[in-house]
Amino acid sequence: MTPVVQPVLPQQEVDVAVFGGGVAGTMAAVSAARAGCSVAIVERYGFFGGNATAGAVAQFNSWQTANGRAVVAGLASEVVDRLRHFGGAGAHEVFVMSTGHRMDRVPYSPELLKLVLDDMIVGCGATPMLHTSLIDVVAVGDRVTQLELLTRGGRRLLRPRVLIDASGDVEALRLAGASFLELEPGEALQPATMMFRFGPIDFDVLDAVGRAELEELAFRGHASGALARRALHHARDPQSQDAWFNIGRLPIDATDPHALSMAEIEGRKQAWRAARFLAAEVPGCAAGRLRAFGTQVGVRETRRVHGDHVLTAQELVSCHRFEDAIAAGAYPIDIHPAQGGGLDFRGLGPDDAYQIPLRSLLPLNLGNALVVGRGISATHEALAAIRVMTISMAVGQAAGLAASLAARVGGAVRRIDVQGLRLMLQGQGALLG
Ligand SMILES: Cc1cc2nc3c(=O)[nH]c(=O)nc-3n(C[C@H](O)[C@H](O)[C@H](O)COP(=O)(O)OP(=O)(O)OC[C@H]3O[C@@H](n4cnc5c(N)ncnc54)[C@H](O)[C@@H]3O)c2cc1C
Repeated sequence: MTPVVQPVLPQQEVDVAVFGGGVAGTMAAVSAARAGCSVAIVERYGFFGGNATAGAVAQFNSWQTANGRAVVAGLASEVVDRLRHFGGAGAHEVFVMSTGHRMDRVPYSPELLKLVLDDMIVGCGATPMLHTSLIDVVAVGDRVTQLELLTRGGRRLLRPRVLIDASGDVEALRLAGASFLELEPGEALQPATMMFRFGPIDFDVLDAVGRAELEELAFRGHASGALARRALHHARDPQSQDAWFNIGRLPIDATDPHALSMAEIEGRKQAWRAARFLAAEVPGCAAGRLRAFGTQVGVRETRRVHGDHVLTAQELVSCHRFEDAIAAGAYPIDIHPAQGGGLDFRGLGPDDAYQIPLRSLLPLNLGNALVVGRGISATHEALAAIRVMTISMAVGQAAGLAASLAARVGGAVRRIDVQGLRLMLQGQGALLG
């Protein structure tokens, strides 16, 4: 039976409001709603997924340590199972990156992921608020009391017990008065990238090209100006002879509206130049043409909240154990420099996995709010590891459950039983490292 989705009233109280429907936000909404909360999820596009769909990233990276020990499961695995039902996810596979590191991934279809996230949101009874953006946030003392939203039906007010900001740019918490971490001297925001779909490709030919030859091609493409990044990195679409290419580079602050507009335009030009290079120079690609752009440029990094704990790269590489760990990961520190063609990549030990503490989801000075996804409280370097979608989904699941516990105590996120939360997450199949 199709679940009944409640419409949004002009003014509505909910246990949990999730602002932003990327993978972190959708998992948070599903998790909170399955725990019995009334949930509304706000998203500016007509579909969920954020970078995973609008950005067309097309591969879920890093489910395992280099030795093959699983570090992410739970709702993230459910997403992949559901994608397979639609024929929208490839096999779990291991590949060698342009940096020479071992990486594991599940390639998927961004279009079919939209169907999966729709089903999960509707199925859990959360209220989807698509085509909705934010006007303002009211905070009274340390409590977020109201989101003022712009919908297709005009202005709506949402009054949550708990707010989860999953917008990546952390716009709701900014308006609520949260504080943010600054870049250190010498650091720059990671660049954005316009993903593009290219095909058909003869994968028997392309996959047979040796690493040295691919590197040489990428070097030549970058030196000639055809490739903005010295790489030919792509993820195969599971249902066609096409692949999504991740080889653009746009050094911008995506919260600057002019820079973001120009990046969309320049990103499409970069994709066009790269597609011509692929067809002309890369084995197996001669018949291929540029088929689609991402709906928007993929954004790796903008704002990072200052939370109760600031997760550091040192804590990741030393596999620091946290009593309040709510998720785990093994993706290496992967910084795309704003300028130049290469990568700053720091791998972990063969069986190393790190943990993410609940305190990195709790913005300082706010008592009923959580942040998930690429805006959590972490240094620029640490974010370069934990930003991937597997980890974002695991953190989203944990935050949704944490919010459901907080909703029972008036929204007070620091009053929840953290060890109880950890046990509940493990009971749901989540891995905590
Ligand atoms: C080019 C690129 C390549 C990447 N490659 C990989 C990879 O290979 N594998 C991997 O696992 N990860 C990869 N990542 C990282 C990963 O995609 C992101 O870090 C992750 O998707 C972040 O998810 P999120 O839910 O936190 O944020 P986002 O995906 O940014 O979602 C935020 C959501 O909030 C919505 N939103 C924002 N502001 C508003 C507003 N004002 N009103 C309403 N809605 C709003 C957005 O529309 C969006 O849906 C890549 C990222 C990029 C950009």
